[in-house]
Order: sequence, then C-alpha cells, then structure tokens
Amino acid sequence: MTHRVADEFLLDHAAGTAPEPIAVLVATHVALNAASRRALRQLETIGGALLSEVAPAATAADALERTLSRLGPQEPPGAAPSFAGRLPAPLQAYVPHGLDALRWRTRGRGLAEAVLACTTPSAYRLSLLRMAPGGGIPRHGHRGPEFVLVLSGGFSDQRGRYGPGDVCFADESVEHRPVADADGECLCLAVTRGPVRLKGLLGLVLNPFMGA
Ligand code: ZN
Repeated sequence: MTHRVADEFLLDHAAGTAPEPIAVLVATHVALNAASRRALRQLETIGGALLSEVAPAATAADALERTLSRLGPQEPPGAAPSFAGRLPAPLQAYVPHGLDALRWRTRGRGLAEAVLACTTPSAYRLSLLRMAPGGGIPRHGHRGPEFVLVLSGGFSDQRGRYGPGDVCFADESVEHRPVADADGECLCLAVTRGPVRLKGLLGLVLNPFMGA
C-alpha cells in the first residue's frame, strides 16, 4: 500500500497556489508515485477543460503547459521512476552540489537535518532528513501540517510503514514517533510549519528537529 498526498494538495499544486516548499514536495512525490501522477494529470485535464470554456483554447493550453513545466521533465506514461542515488528532478535545483555539500545539523540520536533554501518566503520549512538505521524523530506533536516524503529507505510510525515515494502526513491531531527501518539509512524530504512539539524530557533537552 502506498501513502499518497491528499487530492486537495494535488489540486493546489495543479492550480499553482501551493507555497514553494509544499510545491517542491508534491512535485517530488508525483515524480516517484505513479498513482499521484495519474491523479494530477486528471486534475490538470479537468482544469484545462474548465479554462477552455471561459478562455481561448490557446490560453488553456498555455496554462496547462505552464503547470506541467513546473514539474520538470515528464516521464513517459506508466514509468515508475524510483530514487537510486540520484535525486528526483524537482529536487535537483535545491541540492545543486549534492547531498554531502549541504549543511547537515544533528537533531538528536540518529537524525540529521539540512534546510533547503527557497526563493519565495513562506511559513513553511523545506528540509532533507537523514535517519540512521533504527534512528528517527523523537516523539512529537505538530503546530501545523507536516509532510515527510521518503526518498530512499523507509520508516514507520504507529499508523503505518512508509517506503520510497510515500508521504507521511501529520497535523495538530497527530502525535507520532517515526522510526527508520533497521536495515539502512532513510533519506526524506520534509515540509513543516512551525516548530514541532517534542514530548517528554527528551524534548526539553534536544530542542531539535524544527526549532532552529
Ligand atoms: Zn511529525
């Protein structure tokens, strides 16, 4: 079973109204998940059809083209690309010199984070997370939506297991403790809004994940 982003986020993405960090995460998810790719194309087709009723066809085609161009190079239909040491196309501009050139900060045992620079200001934070085998993010709650997209490896929380291309979504109602698979490092792309609320004494000591 795959974990996809909700259609509302695909819709925002197709309309071009998502804040940059979410747009990058959704585009990367779409590049890795065939079902979301199909759903996005359907939404774009519907959007294009709606536009063509109120505007000249050229405008609708142009709008669709602009939407598609934001996603970067398109894979042939049916292709199911996966992360294999090379970052998905929508992410490459944000990691121009490779993963090792990023400024990684330790966020606790078995967790490192590198914040990625965005060109437009928003309330969201875009970052890469590296979880060591068996490591992860301490138990925490949320002050806003959080998306964690697996690029390689995998992790679990009490709601399920997430593999490459899967998105773990959490909001104010969720408290969880993501734990990386024991058999290898897990690399994720994360979008958060506001600092996460770490639970317990560990949270007082670490002050990590999304605070700095
Ligand atoms: Zn979380």
